[in-house]
Parts: sequence; structure tokens; C-alpha cells
Amino acid sequence: MRIFDPHIHMASRTTDDYERMAAAGVRALVEPAFWLGQPRTSVDSFVDYFDSLIGWEPFRAGQFGIRHHATVALNPKEANDPRCRPVLDLLPRYLDKDGVVAVGEIGYDAMTPAEDAALAGQLALAVAYDLPALVHTPHRDKARGVRRTLDVVAESDIAPERVLVDHLNEVTVGLVRDTGCWLGFSIYPETKMSPPRMVELLKRYGTERMLVNSAADWGRSDPLLTRATGEAMQLAGFSADDVDRVLWRNPVEFYGQSGRLDLTALEANDPTFAGNSILRGGE
Ligand SMILES: [Zn+2]
Repeated sequence: MRIFDPHIHMASRTTDDYERMAAAGVRALVEPAFWLGQPRTSVDSFVDYFDSLIGWEPFRAGQFGIRHHATVALNPKEANDPRCRPVLDLLPRYLDKDGVVAVGEIGYDAMTPAEDAALAGQLALAVAYDLPALVHTPHRDKARGVRRTLDVVAESDIAPERVLVDHLNEVTVGLVRDTGCWLGFSIYPETKMSPPRMVELLKRYGTERMLVNSAADWGRSDPLLTRATGEAMQLAGFSADDVDRVLWRNPVEFYGQSGRLDLTALEANDPTFAGNSILRGGE
């Protein structure tokens, strides 16, 4: 089973996690920029964080044969802090970098006017830099947050197939299914989605444009829940090809739209990666 985790916060994880992920079949991942728990008090903190996402973490992942890409953005929570908002002016410097495959995580936390402005502004940046967008949906008042998110996406110039709406569940999946956006599901140990619940959604809605991630971060989470979901799919009768589509080909296709997803290092070590190892876009 080859696994691409499309949303995992490795800066919060240990090197032992990289080792366990590699042993479980994780060969590639995307690490979105997010809120670190401790409030940041200056833009300089973001500079160091973004630099680690495109420098140190890819190096750490590479030691275990895992390809690491990142997304950068001002996250929804800190969009409310005037000390952090100037990060928006810093983003263009990072959106030009090779290892950055999307703008994200953007979206809503408490659905404030400041978050409205940051979301719309960063969707415009995604269009300007020809990148997809990774959109976080709020954990409270989720259905309203997803509806408002989809309205802002529709009002922007970004094409729906370049938007991944993440942290969906049984209540919100139906709101996104027919919009043309990609659908992300974060599998957690206790709360939110579990592997068996994810399998039920895949039975009902199919595997097209469906992405499964562990979203592992500094909270209770488990970087191996992508693998557990693949195994639960197999037990439920999904084919190896279905599992490969959800856990590998879908994330490759979504982030491949950046034209920057580079998986050639995997192909060099393993011939089964030939053919979809690099997606450089149409230009
Ligand atoms: Zn996240």
C-alpha cells in the first residue's frame, strides 16, 4: 500500500513518527502551514516557520525516503491578530518556491470579518500564483462554516477543481460533493472521523475527488490512520486499485495541479512509481 498523506503537521511530530510512517507505506506528504497553539507575536516567527516547512522538514522526511511538500498561508485563527496579518505581504516570497504546492490552510475559524478578508485575499493569491488552495473548515458551527466557505470560493476567480475543502464529515460532505471541489477528511483517534465512518462515506459517495489525511499535529492524533483507513477499505471489499486511488492517485492529482509536485526521487528507488512520479503541469 503506497500512501500520500495530503495534510499532516510534521513540525509537531517526532523523527520516530517519520520512521513509523515510512514502515506503514507513507511515501509522500503535504505539510500545510497552520496555527502552532502558542500565539505568534510577530511576522518574523512566520518566516522561521515557513523556512522550516521548505527546508528542515523535507530534509527530515527525506532521511526515511518520504517526499515532503508544503503549503503556506496565514491560518484562519491568526488572521484575527493584527500582529500576524502582515504575513499576507510576505506570502508571495514563499508562493514562488518549488516545494510549495498550494496556498493553505486558509478558511474559517470563528467566521469573523478579518477571516473573510484573509480568505478572499488568499484565494486571489492562489489564482495569481496558479496554485491550488487547501481550505480548512471550522470545527464549531461546521455546516454554516462550509456553506460560507463555498460562497466565498464561488465569488472568487479560483476554479472549484483547484480547491480542497478539508475536515469534512457526514453532515458536510453533501454540501461539497456537487460543487466540483475536492473533499478532504481528517481521520482522528477519538473525535471526528474514524476509519469505519470514512469507509461508509466512500461506499456512499464513491472515491472520486475524495482525500483522506491524518491531520496529525500537536493534539491527540495518529499519523498511521491513513494506513488504517486503507486497511478498513480492503476489509469492506474495496479493491487495491480503489485504495490506491484514495491514498495515492487522488492527492497526486490534486497537488499535481501546482505543476510542482516532484516525486522523481521515489521513482528512482521503486519502479511502481513510474508514470505518475512527476507532474509539472501543462506549461
Ligand atoms: Zn491542519
